[in-house]
Amino acid sequence: MQHLSEKWLRPFNYYYILYFLGTIGVYAYFVYTQNSLDIQNAENWGSSFPGAILALIGLLYNIFFLRHVKKYNLGVAYLVSFGIFGVTNNIAVEVAINSKELFFLFNSYLTSISAAFFGPIVAITILGISGVILGMEIAGNIGTTAHGLIFDTLAFLIRSVMVAFLLYSFRNKYVSLEKNQSYIERYFVNNEVVSLLTNSISDGVILLDKNSIIRSINPAGLEIIGKEAQETITFDSKKVLKFKQVNGDVLDTTEEPINLAFKHGKAIHKELKLAKKDKDIFIDVTASIIANEQTQELYGMVLILRDISKKKREEAAKSEFISTASHEMRTPVAAIEGNLALALNPKTGNLDLKTKSFIENAYGSTQHLAQLFQDLLVSSKADDGRLISHPEVVELSKIIGDQVDYFSKVAQKKNLKLEFIAGVDKQENSSTNNENNPKYYVYADPSRIKEVASNLIDNAIKYTDEGKVSIGITGNSDLVQFFVRDTGVGIPQEDIPHLFQKFYRVDSSITRTTGGTGLGLYICKKIVDLCQGRIWVESDKEVGSIFYVDLPRLDSEKAKELKNKN
Ligand code: ADP
Repeated sequence: MQHLSEKWLRPFNYYYILYFLGTIGVYAYFVYTQNSLDIQNAENWGSSFPGAILALIGLLYNIFFLRHVKKYNLGVAYLVSFGIFGVTNNIAVEVAINSKELFFLFNSYLTSISAAFFGPIVAITILGISGVILGMEIAGNIGTTAHGLIFDTLAFLIRSVMVAFLLYSFRNKYVSLEKNQSYIERYFVNNEVVSLLTNSISDGVILLDKNSIIRSINPAGLEIIGKEAQETITFDSKKVLKFKQVNGDVLDTTEEPINLAFKHGKAIHKELKLAKKDKDIFIDVTASIIANEQTQELYGMVLILRDISKKKREEAAKSEFISTASHEMRTPVAAIEGNLALALNPKTGNLDLKTKSFIENAYGSTQHLAQLFQDLLVSSKADDGRLISHPEVVELSKIIGDQVDYFSKVAQKKNLKLEFIAGVDKQENSSTNNENNPKYYVYADPSRIKEVASNLIDNAIKYTDEGKVSIGITGNSDLVQFFVRDTGVGIPQEDIPHLFQKFYRVDSSITRTTGGTGLGLYICKKIVDLCQGRIWVESDKEVGSIFYVDLPRLDSEKAKELKNKN
């Protein structure tokens, strides 16, 4: 038997439902017009009382029970439906033609079953023989005006047309006749070595054909998704694997790893949630397509699933610990910092030069420690999604301008020029602003935006020994972009992809001698992501770096509207 998709079997069933309704209808019409329940009294009627009862059973089965039975076995579920249909049909035909022809007892469902399960050649042969015999019956012995016979003949004809149509139009789509799918079957599913290998792997391994139908799943996969093999194999993977976003929100179909991997033709790796019967679990999914290396012909896909709920719980506990610890430690550090500041202040302290230099060192280190605790606190919040933002309408030039003012003294100390390039919209005739003095409105948390700007400007000054640091804002109708450009040490190309990772610091002499936590850019990225923006860097070693931040722009009208609302 070929491997069937339910899509292929379903149209047959819709036809059967119509047939059952027809049979019941004809019988009801008979009872109404003849005023009798006994079909045998009227020669010309086809549908009998047992036929109508069976039809009702068939109808109820299709509507209420089929969906439950198919969870256990698709083939059995539809065979039962076809079976009831066949018997009903035959009782109707037998009564209609008043015949003892046993052939009709089998022809109806034999054709359907063979069409659906065994393929076109067997079905067409049975159809042909049935057609000839039915023709002979009509032309020969029987009165052709019999209502029942007309109904049954019509039903038979409709089915013949439908079967032929389905066979030629859709079969290849829904039945694994193609060599690609048999390739998966032949080389992966029915392969002992592959089975031995996948069965011994502790990650879930699921093989899909190119129509996303599950063809094989290893025991670990069944355990992870919490289902039995018969609930998964031959089922559409999208119905079996219900992915959600990590925060529990609905996952857009375009973001679904199986769709993405098929669409882009490459491996997709994601951390998601998987909805199970009792609870959702965190899951690490890798979807890789299986294709012919030379011809790129697509065969199917392998999905690797790993249950990372335990890891996520541990991460949450760790980050909770870091967050509590850094929160608690900030208080005494702030007290030390305050007291050192008092000691250094000539109005409140009285230190000799040597002691002052010691205290200054201690003060610098305490400030660094306070920053480290602050960064740790923010990054641990960002890690487990607790980074809260209170968005409001914000005019970016103002926030960035304030930060530039704040850092001007720090830059001066290093003899660096710090300049602020006022914004000019990139787009001509921008309707969002008055061109001479464009307003760059964004909807974001001002304190978070301040944090990003201050981190970037602070870094630019820290990692620049001479030259200047320029901060600018531009925009178009959709985006506001601010950048921080320096003429500093630059960043080697190989470090750029890792720069926004936690604790990543470029290994250079200036980094070694400059205090830092390696958390600043990580936090910037988390905040910009939270605002649905983008942050990236362009840099040349020994020439300098430019950090860009894009944020979605609010036009002036919308900004006013939101401001009024607030
Ligand atoms: P920190 O500055 O505290 O070390 P960040 O996350 O802010 O941490 O930066 C990570 C690393 O990126 C820094 O250690 C530094 O090596 C590099 N970096 C950041 N900004 C610049 C810059 N403007 N010029 C050169 N290197 C930079």
